[in-house]
Amino acid sequence: MNDLTRCVITPKVKMEGFDPLGPAIHRASTIVFENAAAYANRLERGPDGYSYGLYGTPTTRTLERKLSELERGGRTLLVPSGQAANTIAMLAFLRAGDKVLIADTVYPPMRDFADSDLPKFGVTVDYYDPTSPAEVERLIDERTRIVWCESPGSTTMEVQDLPKIAEIAHRYGALVGCDNTWATPLNFKPLMHGADIVTEALTKYVAGHSDVLMGSISVSDEAHFLTIRSSMGRLGIGVSPDDASLVLRGMETLGVRMKHAHEGAMAAIDWLQGHLLVERVLYPALVDCPGHDIWKRDFLGASGVFSVIFVPEAVEHVSAALDALETFAIGASWGGTRSLVAPMPVKVNRTATKWIGNDLVLRVSIGLEAHEDLMADLQRMLRTIEMRIATGLSRAVPHSAAR
Ligand SMILES: *Cc1c(COP(=O)(O)O)cnc(C)c1O
Repeated sequence: MNDLTRCVITPKVKMEGFDPLGPAIHRASTIVFENAAAYANRLERGPDGYSYGLYGTPTTRTLERKLSELERGGRTLLVPSGQAANTIAMLAFLRAGDKVLIADTVYPPMRDFADSDLPKFGVTVDYYDPTSPAEVERLIDERTRIVWCESPGSTTMEVQDLPKIAEIAHRYGALVGCDNTWATPLNFKPLMHGADIVTEALTKYVAGHSDVLMGSISVSDEAHFLTIRSSMGRLGIGVSPDDASLVLRGMETLGVRMKHAHEGAMAAIDWLQGHLLVERVLYPALVDCPGHDIWKRDFLGASGVFSVIFVPEAVEHVSAALDALETFAIGASWGGTRSLVAPMPVKVNRTATKWIGNDLVLRVSIGLEAHEDLMADLQRMLRTIEMRIATGLSRAVPHSAAR
């Protein structure tokens, strides 16, 4: 053999006896076949066989299997982001003339997709109050193909009565999809509560280190799996085994990370709720959170993401106060090791329900830092607001106070 050829042809080394705990990264576009007949008949390998890198590698299949087990679903498909999980779950099933009902509290890019893209395909979109199965009943009809849930809802944390919504949707022959990113499959299993499709932004808690984007779609029904899988093949969507291995590594510590984040969230919330500048904290584990009873009935725990509503006089100072934070970082996404805050507008993202009160909600994601450092940082933030209000007040009444 010529050296040039030796450079190209990779010898097979012995694998027997090599049994590491970490899953291997199998990179591939091409997968070779033992003979021409095997290549010609490659479709006969079915969805569990290997024929081309786009359709799955042992690394991606390993992650899919782990997710299927956690979700208590039969099948999982990996896609390049959480947003892709949601859009592909819809596109695979929708056709012109269909209608979709979407929870008013849906992740904002999903609303954008539903408003900008679905009408181009002749699909009608309607939004419903996430806390009202009765509104789903009022809006649904025989054309409705998908009822989309996100529980709890993005930013404002309303927990949905998934079993009740699923009962209504199934009576009309509609599928129920649920974005489960906040809870993760550790804390909620939508497929066991009536959903036909569950999506996760693995980007958040499951990967857990703010360095990879990935989403998953899990279903119980084999026919639904095949529908989504063939759609993905035609659209050319798959994920990198390197990224899948990062998610696999992150998932091993999901349980302990979630526990630490939840405990940190409870400590922070306890303190925030007692503060005069905080009007309200939104978090499904709190008794006054819309749908708290449903959370208690259906969920197995809470993550470390919650939202803070400030009293009206504090709102204009929040942005300056965020700049005083030292441990928390300011940024989108959540569920990583680093604690994050992100100010979120709500009103622009609500059409079926009215958001009453001030339009600034601070989303907080507790990470893996020491709880005391996070508490000190939150205190620093609220002291900054207090000082700014105090300065403003003394300017508004310049002499009366002195006299
Ligand atoms: C972040 C998020 C997504 C999107 O995930 P990406 O991987 O960032 O695309 C979808 N749904 C919810 C509820 C999210 O919070």
